[in-house]
Amino acid sequence: MSPPRFDPSNASVFLDFDGTVSTLDIGLVLLERHGHPGWEELDAAFVGGELGSRDTITGQWALVDASEPELLVTAMEVPLDPGFPALVADLRGAGAEVAVLSDGFGFYVEEHCRAAAVDVDLYVNRVDWTTRELRFPFGDPTCACQLCGVCKQAPIRAAAARGRTTVMVGDGASDRRAASIADIVFAKAGLAAWCGEAGVPYTSYVTLRDVRDALLRS
Ligand SMILES: [Mg+2]
Ligand SMILES: [Zn+2]
Repeated sequence: MSPPRFDPSNASVFLDFDGTVSTLDIGLVLLERHGHPGWEELDAAFVGGELGSRDTITGQWALVDASEPELLVTAMEVPLDPGFPALVADLRGAGAEVAVLSDGFGFYVEEHCRAAAVDVDLYVNRVDWTTRELRFPFGDPTCACQLCGVCKQAPIRAAAARGRTTVMVGDGASDRRAASIADIVFAKAGLAAWCGEAGVPYTSYVTLRDVRDALLRS
């Protein structure tokens, strides 16, 4: 099932964070523990395709009721996939570029990567803790979707324009648009189901160790 003629030295690998690098969707964990009612409906509308990710997380963030330290403690309790550091290190060692694309609340991604001693490029939303507003430094106003917080397509298109082979690793609805344009897709859970229905070729995986082994086996 490994992709044919994969050359890591000319590849750009993009990892979703929630549910892909982290073992659970930390945004949903935060909402379950600290959210007022109403976030489930927003999540259902997002998964159903009726609401864009930016509107979804903006609406959900408004329902989160806890301090920054409390939220960070909850977020850091969720373990990462133990294969994350080796995947990044081995891909980098083989010449690949690696980045994390996360269209969630964003504030815990950098902290988790630092705790795992993984230094990757991060495309994440930001929280302005003085106003508690979400910021979207990686939204792309030129993208046809214009509904995303982080436009996951933009960095993939940029890598492809530089001649890189693009790889997307994901698990959920926020990865669909990225998966539809990446050269190689690793999918599990909801993303795998969507790829199957949409006719997007993908390799299924369970852990990031599987992804590492599939990409770097030779
Ligand atoms: Mg995810
Ligand atoms: Zn976009």
